[in-house]
Amino acid sequence: MNSLPPTLNKVIKAFTSFPGIGNKTAHRLGLHVLKSNDSAIEEFAQALLDLKNKISTCQVCHNFSESDKCNICIDEKRDKDIICVCEEPSNIFLLEKTGYRGVYHVLGGLISPLDGIGPEELNINSLTDRAKSASELIIATDASVEGDTTALYISNILNSMEIKITRLARGLPVGGHLEYVDEATLTKSIHERVKVNSVV
Ligand SMILES: [Zn+2]
Repeated sequence: MNSLPPTLNKVIKAFTSFPGIGNKTAHRLGLHVLKSNDSAIEEFAQALLDLKNKISTCQVCHNFSESDKCNICIDEKRDKDIICVCEEPSNIFLLEKTGYRGVYHVLGGLISPLDGIGPEELNINSLTDRAKSASELIIATDASVEGDTTALYISNILNSMEIKITRLARGLPVGGHLEYVDEATLTKSIHERVKVNSVV
């Protein structure tokens, strides 16, 4: 046990559950919260609650959204003919930096039999529906076994459709998550994407 009051310990413990936050940083953040003025903390606490209460998922692409459709899906300047398929909404944030101007489809995970995640756990039915009216599907899953399995599964089920299916070029580190790829490499891999099916 340390000498800190239990309430402060509780806040520190909560911070350690965040990615990339170790004990030392959590300790500093906890003390910072304690020293902050009331209104700043109330605003912070409310922002956290709003994040959980107001943000849901886009009914079209499953991106984060505060309304039925996300900002990308309602943007008329986006090319709705090209759909970029990714694992998580956080991938969209990275892919947006490449200058990509099509739309997205978030799977909500990758196929991983070892973890008990099959295609039925992912947003694949809605993708099949959307693919009917699109001209190209860019599969932007990780260059990992799960990413490859998912890409293969999608290209197989859409095989009979008149749609071009591409994958990000292999400048990506094998086994690596998109999160750790630098912007220049990701931009290059989306521009040099490779075709994975035979439809012209
Ligand atoms: Zn959307």
